[in-house]
Amino acid sequence: MRKFLLPEGEIPRKWLNIAPLLPEPLEPPLDPETKEPVSPEKLLVIFPEPLVMQEVSDQEWIDIPEEVLDILSLWRPTPLHRAKNLEEFLGTPAKIFYKNESVSPPGSHKPNTAVAQAYYNKISGVKRLTTETGAGQWGSALSFATQFFGIECRVYMVRVSYNQKPYRRVLMETWKGEVIPSPSPYTNAGKQFYEKDPEHPGSLGIAISEAIEEAATRDDTKYSLGSVLNHVLLHQTVIGLEAKRQMEEAGFYPDVVIGAVGGGSNFAGLSFPFLADKLRGDKPNLKVLAVEPQACPTLTKGEYRYDFGDTVGLTPLIKMYTLGHDFVPPPIHAGGLRYHGDAPLVCKLYDLGYIDAVAYKQTEVFEAAVTFARTEGIIPAPESSHAIKAAIDEAIRCKETGEEKVILFNLSGHGYFDLSAYDKYLRGELEDS
Ligand SMILES: *Cc1c(COP(=O)(O)O)cnc(C)c1O
Repeated sequence: MRKFLLPEGEIPRKWLNIAPLLPEPLEPPLDPETKEPVSPEKLLVIFPEPLVMQEVSDQEWIDIPEEVLDILSLWRPTPLHRAKNLEEFLGTPAKIFYKNESVSPPGSHKPNTAVAQAYYNKISGVKRLTTETGAGQWGSALSFATQFFGIECRVYMVRVSYNQKPYRRVLMETWKGEVIPSPSPYTNAGKQFYEKDPEHPGSLGIAISEAIEEAATRDDTKYSLGSVLNHVLLHQTVIGLEAKRQMEEAGFYPDVVIGAVGGGSNFAGLSFPFLADKLRGDKPNLKVLAVEPQACPTLTKGEYRYDFGDTVGLTPLIKMYTLGHDFVPPPIHAGGLRYHGDAPLVCKLYDLGYIDAVAYKQTEVFEAAVTFARTEGIIPAPESSHAIKAAIDEAIRCKETGEEKVILFNLSGHGYFDLSAYDKYLRGELEDS
């Protein structure tokens, strides 16, 4: 019998903060008016104190609270698979491994941070959380997480998705989330658009503005973000810490670590514990590869400069690779990768040359997704399929050179709510923009 699953083991008890390992410090977020660094106090209007402390922490290891571990243990540790069927199909001497974050109840890596954020808000006396969601992955993760801690969750969901993707909304409502199509009549930000057109399709930028406005104007309410920020990337390092131990126990260390990048959280979650070795000088040849869509090529085509994190310009200025905060990416099916910027930590490491990046077209990504589904069985999320495409390309190069590289990628989520995109691909109707 062939062994596809590697040893399980325990959930890590600490998160890894990569900030103190950087060769030079991150540039701080700036106040857009004064161009001075934003004080942590300002962030306290929308985030609870423990998360603000983590955002600026220079401590390398941070304890995971017992209450968070209890919930994470509903699905963690997640399996590490050896993709032997895919290896055989490709005829490659490379060994391909993937960390399977699709086994969480909401179906992606996102609850790793949603649970931690819900917990820290709870112990800070917060009663309600607001957030935005596009296709619904983040909104469903936060709805799932908040119910465990008795916190109300209000999700502003971009109206086109609200109308077109009812099943993610049903997930959120089943987990007690309140889902409001955005733009809504309940906030000043939403009203401007709603009053002109009650069927306005909305955008992620408007939904963010609505969620932040509500958190900033209510004492019992804070705001929650699912990617980009330092504390979000921190919470995701459970992925890489588990993977590192699981690979070690099986006698492997990766030559290449790969993740899809939207805001950078699942990529950082898998890669930072390995990158820490490279930053310490232990693994100088480790290749860490960020994969993005050609339709939203932030690292491969963007500029490294200060820009707003949102479309409207409510957030501090953040130093990152950006396509410009007013960039509107084409409506590709990997909705989670349509962000104009990237996490400052990921951008810094890319700028310093510790990370490589590659961009792919939607059709070649779906071709890789279907190859994966037909060999390994799991139907991957369109976002995760970017990582699969890059892993396949690495493995094919190994076939040409005869190298027996060890490739590790993150399967950030499953694609069972994305079947209409698969339907289009299978009918030959999917196009590149
Ligand atoms: C949200 C999402 C992403 C992109 O977000 P990151 O913060 O870059 O990880 C990738 N894959 C899946 C399945 C997602 O839900």
